[in-house]
Amino acid sequence: MPAKKPAAPKKRLARYRAKRDFTKTPEPTGGRPAAEKARAFCVQKHLASHLHYDFRLEHRGVLLSWAIPKGPSLNPRDKRLAMRVEDHPYDYRTFEGVIPAGYGAGVVMLWDEGTWSPEAGFENVSVALKKGELKFTLDAAKLKGSWVLIRIRGGPTPTGEREQWLLIKHKDQWVGVINVTEKFPTSVRTDRDFEGILKSDPDVWQSHKAAGGSDDMQKIIEKVLDYTDKTKSGSAAASPKRSPARARKK
Ligand code: MN
Repeated sequence: MPAKKPAAPKKRLARYRAKRDFTKTPEPTGGRPAAEKARAFCVQKHLASHLHYDFRLEHRGVLLSWAIPKGPSLNPRDKRLAMRVEDHPYDYRTFEGVIPAGYGAGVVMLWDEGTWSPEAGFENVSVALKKGELKFTLDAAKLKGSWVLIRIRGGPTPTGEREQWLLIKHKDQWVGVINVTEKFPTSVRTDRDFEGILKSDPDVWQSHKAAGGSDDMQKIIEKVLDYTDKTKSGSAAASPKRSPARARKK
């Protein structure tokens, strides 16, 4: 268990905490930003039941979070579906490791990190979230420049679906024709792939024991090896779509 940290905004993390047993996962419980720091931004590549990219923007002491199945794209013509998920604790922004069992079981890679700021007219982030449109600038290692998140469907619906948003790159000097998730597949901080994280995380086996030595860890190991095979053979599930760099809409 990590040392006790200052309480994060409790109400906003209730859903995050309800889904987890912190005696069985190494994930952070809370944390708080220093008042003078720029707003944190990170993307975590998460191999769980399905591969996705968790896109997180610090706001009012927690991390606003969206799960993006295909990951971000540097091409302004791509509209990437982003499912809004529960706010995550501030300390999550640097988390990389193995979730041995329970909610989100799998491997989390810190894929990108840096800072963000809302653009002119969107300074009141809470209002922007309610209205369903947030324009912002990123300054991270892989993602930079101007972006927008636009809500296309409210939630939760009666069938339990979450809010759906689109993440789109604005045209500026930071657009690119490369497939950023394929070109830069590893951890921004450690350069490890999923297999490297799984094999080198010292918490894995301890947590595995704490979780009662269930089959969950075996499933995670198989999933990671399967993903490694797929990406090495060039048929990455991550992004099968490839668009010609020069193709244009009418
Ligand atoms: Mn996730």
